[in-house]
Amino acid sequence: MSRARELLSRVREIKAEEPVSRAEELLRKLGRVGGVGRLPGSGPDPLNAWRELVEARTGRASITTLQTESERTIKALQAFSPNLRFYDVIIVNTSGGKDSIAMSKEISKLAKKQGVYNRLLMVHADLGEAEWTGTKQLAQQHAHTLDLPFQAVAHPVALGARVQAYGKMPSKGNRYCTGEFKTAQINKLMTRLLENLTGTKGGVLTKVGLRPVRFLNVLGIRADESDDRANKPPFHRAKSNSRRVKDDWYPIHEWSHGRVMRSVNQGPLRPPESYACGLSRHSCKFCIMASQPDLLTAALLDPAGTEQWAARQERMMDPRLNPWDEDVVRFQGKPITVLKRKRPGAKRPHRVKYEHAGKIKEVTIDQWKALVQGAQVVSLGPSARDRVFPVLGMAAVKRMADELRAQGVDPRKDPAAARIRIEERLVQQRIDKAWARIEEAKKAKTKDERTKALRSARAYLAKAMHQEALTQKQEKRAREGVAQIALLRQRNKR
Ligand code: SF4
Repeated sequence: MSRARELLSRVREIKAEEPVSRAEELLRKLGRVGGVGRLPGSGPDPLNAWRELVEARTGRASITTLQTESERTIKALQAFSPNLRFYDVIIVNTSGGKDSIAMSKEISKLAKKQGVYNRLLMVHADLGEAEWTGTKQLAQQHAHTLDLPFQAVAHPVALGARVQAYGKMPSKGNRYCTGEFKTAQINKLMTRLLENLTGTKGGVLTKVGLRPVRFLNVLGIRADESDDRANKPPFHRAKSNSRRVKDDWYPIHEWSHGRVMRSVNQGPLRPPESYACGLSRHSCKFCIMASQPDLLTAALLDPAGTEQWAARQERMMDPRLNPWDEDVVRFQGKPITVLKRKRPGAKRPHRVKYEHAGKIKEVTIDQWKALVQGAQVVSLGPSARDRVFPVLGMAAVKRMADELRAQGVDPRKDPAAARIRIEERLVQQRIDKAWARIEEAKKAKTKDERTKALRSARAYLAKAMHQEALTQKQEKRAREGVAQIALLRQRNKR
């Protein structure tokens, strides 16, 4: 029997007055799971209001009014607030950080106003040791303070182990850490809630029959944080099928950092201690989106974690252990070129396709490791850059953190002084890199190689010279570098 027919026959079997009591009973079940939801969602679908708003604003074709209209449109879209009564369950995502605090306060206020406070469920995606110690407990405390039910969700595997198995760090373009460790886990929780809500994986039973369960997924994402986030619509339907409707909403999308901090400072939710140590974000300790100063601060705060990530990245940069497309190793005098690292199947591990002595072969990754034992690394393919942190490799971070620690820099004792030293050290790193490129340019065999090295050196120096933390000594060294580049460029032209 098709699913539609099966549901239809179930609905028919239920007597006229029964569906309401059944729905209530099922919602009570949900109440036992997450402590939320007494009444099923009702009222107009906010998606229609959103679409009407967008159409009303963008339907005008007059070029002369377009600019004013687009400004008004942006303001109207920014001010959009959905009808919360429409939803059965409102998931309040929290990382425990400042944006989550401001967003939780905002959604709580709105839910109270609309009489749907009992539909809120605070959820924390727990990344275990990748997060700062006590983050889950802090999120739980926030839920307790706001008198909200709390649920933590977690991936069965630790983030570090997952990254190691994949062989590449998550990156801006492939943020599998967020996808697998946060979004997917919260979706799974919604499925569990949905099953508890209906008892049959069907939908919410109402007087008129079955309809999909409606979830509002609320996140503390802000446009200020990045261009990607700025381009996300603050409200959108993320999923819609016969079982569930899931809308994503970012109530503080347009908030400035100052407004967020004002909300945090008003209490009553305690901000995490990481801010007091000078970190600008409360996220995974070594988040792939972290700025260089944050990464270095984190390394000073957690030397063991830094060492672990540095070792992981070192293994990831070794094609004998972690082969990727176009890596080359030399074995028995002949090069072996990796043609393709094949994704694992359901029961199949990663496989490696390679070329050796004119022959193409394919083996499992374990067979590869056994085969190339003792081989020499010749070169790494283009994906080598993705194998380390996009901002800075952890080996470099570790080296700089060890140096600073030896000089007595401690963000716990004096975060402001530590930040200044960290920024100075990062400027120094850029100047050192620039000089390394200048030396490369001097030794370059071709004109192209020389131009490339000089271009890179110039970029490093330009970045360094725009930093506030630049000391007089560093400025002098940077200027010498600029003069040296000019000289080499002139010689290169001849
Ligand atoms: S906080 Fe950073 S590292 Fe952690 S899941 Fe999010 S993007 Fe990935």
